[in-house]
Amino acid sequence: MKQRTLSIVKPDAVRAGNAGKIIAEIESHFRIVAMRKLQLSKAQAAAFYAVHAGKPFYNDLVEFMTSGPVVVMCLEGEDAIANYRKLMGATNPEKAEEGTLRKKYAESMSHNAVHGSDAPETAAVEVAFFFPGCDLI
Ligand code: ATP
Ligand code: MG
Repeated sequence: MKQRTLSIVKPDAVRAGNAGKIIAEIESHFRIVAMRKLQLSKAQAAAFYAVHAGKPFYNDLVEFMTSGPVVVMCLEGEDAIANYRKLMGATNPEKAEEGTLRKKYAESMSHNAVHGSDAPETAAVEVAFFFPGCDLI
């Protein structure tokens, strides 16, 4: 089934100059429906990761996600949500499979290079968080 998902190249990967390589790899598997480079405000990052509010890593996560520019993309493809998470690899890069984006580019569990939506409901909310319908081409 054709799906859309939200991808973020996180501040660590942008800072390291890996955004282009990551986007090229993404583009070899998915159609890029929309793309923006931006720096999240504290309020935006807190809202985006609201599902994790109260967890021990939440404040550091918001701090990290606002620490520099990110590249945000809406991706489209067959089973894009699960397939993009497969391409990303496990949250902890030490557990990520060979060849995955996190295995190649993540520095640690908290600085892990990329984000991907985890379900159709969250994908719809996350895509709308960054892109008005008219920008989804
Ligand atoms: P993302 O939502 O960023 O794609 P994910 O879905 O693989 O990652 P989540 O459980 O949603 O993982 O956690 C969101 C982010 O919070 C992770 O990418 C990671 O950077 C951070 N995080 C999650 N668990 C921990 C933890 N135990 N310690 C430190 N950071 C964590
Ligand atoms: Mg998640």
